[in-house]
Amino acid sequence: MEEYDLTIIGGGPIGIFAASYANLRSLKVQLIESLEQLGGQITALYPHKNILDVAGYPAVEGEQLVKNLVAQLQQFKTTVKLATLVTDITNPAPNEFIITTNRGISKSKAVIMATGKGRFEPRRLPFDGTLTPAIQKHIHYALNQPAIFQGKRVLVAGGGDSAVDLALQVNALAKQTYLVHRRDQFRALEHSVAQLKASTIIKTVPYLIDSITQAADGSLAVTLKKLRTDETQVIVVDEIIISYGFISENKMLQAWSVNVAQDPKTLNVLVNQELMTNVAGLFAIGDVSQYQGKTDLIATGFGEGPLAVNAAVRGFAPNQRGPIHSSSLKIANGEIEK
Ligand SMILES: Cc1cc2nc3c(=O)[nH]c(=O)nc-3n(C[C@H](O)[C@H](O)[C@H](O)COP(=O)(O)OP(=O)(O)OC[C@H]3O[C@@H](n4cnc5c(N)ncnc54)[C@H](O)[C@@H]3O)c2cc1C
Repeated sequence: MEEYDLTIIGGGPIGIFAASYANLRSLKVQLIESLEQLGGQITALYPHKNILDVAGYPAVEGEQLVKNLVAQLQQFKTTVKLATLVTDITNPAPNEFIITTNRGISKSKAVIMATGKGRFEPRRLPFDGTLTPAIQKHIHYALNQPAIFQGKRVLVAGGGDSAVDLALQVNALAKQTYLVHRRDQFRALEHSVAQLKASTIIKTVPYLIDSITQAADGSLAVTLKKLRTDETQVIVVDEIIISYGFISENKMLQAWSVNVAQDPKTLNVLVNQELMTNVAGLFAIGDVSQYQGKTDLIATGFGEGPLAVNAAVRGFAPNQRGPIHSSSLKIANGEIEK
């Protein structure tokens, strides 16, 4: 049976970085990802979105961030298993986990779950299924091919971070962008809301999409209904982007033999300050983990990786010294001396 010091389940941004860091601690690590590519939500849902809140980047396109994370990992010899779904984990003895996947079994001294929110899919327009294929062709749930929107009239629906970011990004290409939201306020980063206010995007609030029809020239007439009134208005556009968020479910853990404590409502995994679950040697980082004040951000997860890796090493090799950067720096009288 293959044996590893550390197994990381989930090749999203947080799992990839944790695997790189584990290599810096000279661990024998395997990274297991159920999809055929690395990158998690970024690759699957928003490869072309500009991410603004990752340290060191004024702005970075999702795809580029994943490329950089993979390049960082490729500096080391790491076992990366793609298209491999973890179906069970057992913990027969301390510092011993047996990981079962659809492709085989391996052994690991510690395990880090970086499995995100589980299976996810975009929340669709409630009447999406009743629309003709010709209309559906112009309804998008992600910004996969930005070039489609060049010189077009585009309606973006939604009011969260992603909707505002998408509208701003599309507006740089489109002839005219409309942003339709069912509330008066947009729930995005204040910086993005300020950019939205200053932009040429036409904001229509509080409205919901009521129906969509197609004219002979292919354009879409979108009827919007003002909330709690009978007032309607029609906007004619070429493309529609729906950004109503995502539905996800993290039920797979319940089928695993290890009994991991989850929040009954969110199904996120409960962890302590070391990102350890209720099972010694089993950690959870990134979107799957939950503790007081947790925020599902890439930046947060990047910090959690090293914490979990170092705690894992302390668990199975307690005599190994932990890493301290600049150990030669000493603070004397409030001044840093080398
Ligand atoms: C539209 C959108 C826009 C966003 N914008 C931003 C932003 O601007 N800034 C920001 O900081 N965050 C943003 N986020 C949130 C960010 O994407 C997440 O916080 C981040 O992806 C979490 O990374 P992760 O590695 O924990 O999980 P994920 O990215 O979800 O990756 C988890 C991986 O684990 C794999 N997996 C799950 N179960 C198994 C299993 N049993 N076996 C093997 N593999 C498994 C999955 O296939 C997946 O690839 C956004 C999210 C969305 C949806």
